[in-house]
Amino acid sequence: MVDCRKTPSVSNCQMTIAGTHDEVLELAVLHAVTSHGHEDGPELRAGIEESMTPVDAAMA
Ligand SMILES: [Zn+2]
Repeated sequence: MVDCRKTPSVSNCQMTIAGTHDEVLELAVLHAVTSHGHEDGPELRAGIEESMTPVDAAMA
């Protein structure tokens, strides 16, 4: 899952996305572009992948 609160350059966004790796990545990219004005690209996707955490760890 991705927790927007843990990603850099985010102001007051508390969205979390949970699902499979691919689902989370696609939705997080879309969210970052539409809600945060980021540009879609390898850099953004790499950053999102880095901020991903396993659901088990996040919910524990
Ligand atoms: Zn966000």
